[in-house]
Amino acid sequence: MESLIPPESDLMEGKTVLILGGGWGGLTVAHHLRGLLPSEHRIVVFERRDSFSLYVSYLWLMTGERDNPEQIERRMETLKREGIEVLHGEVQEFDPAARSVVTDAGEMSGDYVVIALGAELAPGSVPGFDDGAHNLYEAAGAARLQAALRAFDGGRIVVLVAGAPFRCPAAPYEAAMLIESSIRAGGIRDRTELSLYTPEAQPMAVAGQAVGDALEAMLEERGIGYFPQRAITRVDAGSGAIYFGDEAVPYDLLVGIPPHRAPSVVTDCGLTDATGYVPVHPQTLEILSDVDTLETGYPDVFAIGDVTSVRLLNSMLLPKAGVFAEGQAQVVAAAIAADIANQPKPRGFDGAGFCYVEVGEGMAAYGSGDFFAFPGPRVTLEMPTSKSRQAKEEYEQLLDTWFDAR
Ligand SMILES: Cc1cc2nc3c(=O)[nH]c(=O)nc-3n(C[C@H](O)[C@H](O)[C@H](O)COP(=O)(O)OP(=O)(O)OC[C@H]3O[C@@H](n4cnc5c(N)ncnc54)[C@H](O)[C@@H]3O)c2cc1C
Repeated sequence: MESLIPPESDLMEGKTVLILGGGWGGLTVAHHLRGLLPSEHRIVVFERRDSFSLYVSYLWLMTGERDNPEQIERRMETLKREGIEVLHGEVQEFDPAARSVVTDAGEMSGDYVVIALGAELAPGSVPGFDDGAHNLYEAAGAARLQAALRAFDGGRIVVLVAGAPFRCPAAPYEAAMLIESSIRAGGIRDRTELSLYTPEAQPMAVAGQAVGDALEAMLEERGIGYFPQRAITRVDAGSGAIYFGDEAVPYDLLVGIPPHRAPSVVTDCGLTDATGYVPVHPQTLEILSDVDTLETGYPDVFAIGDVTSVRLLNSMLLPKAGVFAEGQAQVVAAAIAADIANQPKPRGFDGAGFCYVEVGEGMAAYGSGDFFAFPGPRVTLEMPTSKSRQAKEEYEQLLDTWFDAR
């Protein structure tokens, strides 16, 4: 296997930071570190995709507010200009003790490693999902959904959450409300039945009862049927029905959120626990060898974002959201830079999070809170406003900041 480490003479005194995964979390680490570290230190991102997009924009692909996937994608190779190396390819193996990775392009070890591989979609784990559902969680699926909604002329639309946990606890609810708004605008609301099926006990359960009740009320106001605690067993594309055991629910248009799981590379190297994801220290993001005592396992190896499980004080898990991946990424970048500079450890991650729940008609409800509060997250949800909807669009400014800045 070819080594990806440059010749000794090119290395100078610099350290090498390997970032596995160039999504929202991984690229935040890379950009923050590049701002903090002198250029002799290498920052290397391993990423299988050759372009980056924010999943947030997929909802706007679905509604037609973004025309096509190309509009929201940026080429990873442009990061070279910023002094961030991107190695395009699949991370196949990772050895956390040696801090070494094997990819289809070669192998490499580093002084620090940040695992930011996200959660993987597993549509194939539900029989029939691929044939019957439009996958909202992929750019191509969201774009196909845009065309399907445009052609839709009434009938039954089902939004299906096929497994939990999943990225962005609000997204399926936003999808349902955005679809409701668009079919009402299209004049077919009176001949369309819209419902949402999920294995969750309530919407955004980790945010608490009051937020869940508020979201259920929003669905009810819009006449969207809500069916919690439903575990999908199969989709039958031929007859147009989803099955929860023996219960069959017919559909004409199925909007699917597939089950998620940790990428196999982290499972294969033994980093996941019973949650299925990589347990990390809530503040430092170091990988835990014991979740109860918070004993950490591997020096200078961190994990952030959707690939992790962070146990909260009420024993629930921190939701999979970009704002958390980003906040954790900033903490890890600062910790690595401080360690290299022999400076004291900076502050840890504080569990603060927020989101904008889109409700249609250009409005979003702002939710925010302290997810590390005792005895459990303290989260509030404000009334929907057009200002919050505009604020949500600012996420996409990351595309300019990271890729288009000169
Ligand atoms: C429709 C939708 C709307 C959302 N809206 C919001 C929102 O409004 N606010 C919010 O905070 N969050 C939102 N999210 C969630 C947010 O996008 C994710 O939580 C966030 O992207 C997680 O970042 P991450 O870096 O952990 O993982 P990702 O962004 O998924 O990045 C992981 C990267 O690792 C790469 N990778 C994985 N395995 C390998 C491998 N073996 N080799 C090489 N590369 C690999 C992947 O290709 C990917 O690029 C939304 C998600 C969806 C689907």
